[in-house]
Amino acid sequence: MQAFSYQNPTSVASAAAAAAAAGAKLIAGGQSLLPSMRLGLAAPESLVDLSAVPDLRGITVAGGVVKIGAMATHATVAASAEVARAIPALADLASHIGDRQVRNRGTIGGSLANNDPAACYPAAVLGLGATIHTHTRSIAADQFFKGLYETALAEGEVITAVSFPVPEKAAWQKFKQPASRFSLVGVFVSKGTAGVRVAVTGAGACVFRASALEALLSRQWHATALQGAQVSADGLNSDLHGTAEYRAALIPVLAARAVAAAA
Ligand code: FAD
Repeated sequence: MQAFSYQNPTSVASAAAAAAAAGAKLIAGGQSLLPSMRLGLAAPESLVDLSAVPDLRGITVAGGVVKIGAMATHATVAASAEVARAIPALADLASHIGDRQVRNRGTIGGSLANNDPAACYPAAVLGLGATIHTHTRSIAADQFFKGLYETALAEGEVITAVSFPVPEKAAWQKFKQPASRFSLVGVFVSKGTAGVRVAVTGAGACVFRASALEALLSRQWHATALQGAQVSADGLNSDLHGTAEYRAALIPVLAARAVAAAA
């Protein structure tokens, strides 16, 4: 790992100012960034640690919206009684991320900024039609995820929080890759003011909506509506853990299980 300087700002403004410098990188839980640095895949000249910024913490539920601070760890979201009451599927998703250490260190902001193709939170954010707030603007989930490890964030832009509209129904199903614990395929379904949404992670270059399944579920919100439904394997991931066809076959199966669980 190459040498780097370290900064520990205590406000969003000072974190954003430090992150704007050339060669600077934000660090939250370090669960994705530190392994990348150890492998030489990232070599920031300075790290801007967000852990001392109080405004990035906290969870509120008001007006049919759950707002989660960017530095909320997966364990905090999983254990939150407010989240469990308002959107139990979201607490469930957080409780199945990685292992105990990853859940105690990893954050929702870090997960979304990283946009790993198999990460869990992107599925909830897209599957619920959430909004990502940064220190300069608010970005709808449909505009946020751009591709493999790519998002709409500008260089140095700090995610401050995520707002989730409370759905009528929602559920998450994860088909785990047992070695990494990431999703081989994960599907988040919801029905609410944002309509019916089906978001898929682990199967493609980044999270995406399964529009054909959404159309079927919009006609009838029931697991049987997905009987015989097929998803094309074109462009899906293929690796030693599963072929693109295998992943494609899992998507409607997991979506149907999620709809059944949401009922
Ligand atoms: P960091 O590693 O600190 O940062 C990641 C990236 O986000 C960096 O580029 C950083 O600059 C940027 N960043 C961080 N915070 C912000 C912010 N507020 N604004 C803008 N940019 C920011 N994830 C899953 O979803 N499901 C799993 O099952 C899973 N299993 C895992 C298993 C293992 C063994 C490990 C090591 C990780 C696993 N993860 C899994 C990833 C984990 O969820 C990480 O916590 C997450 O990817 C990154 O969050 P972090 O807070 O650690 O971010």
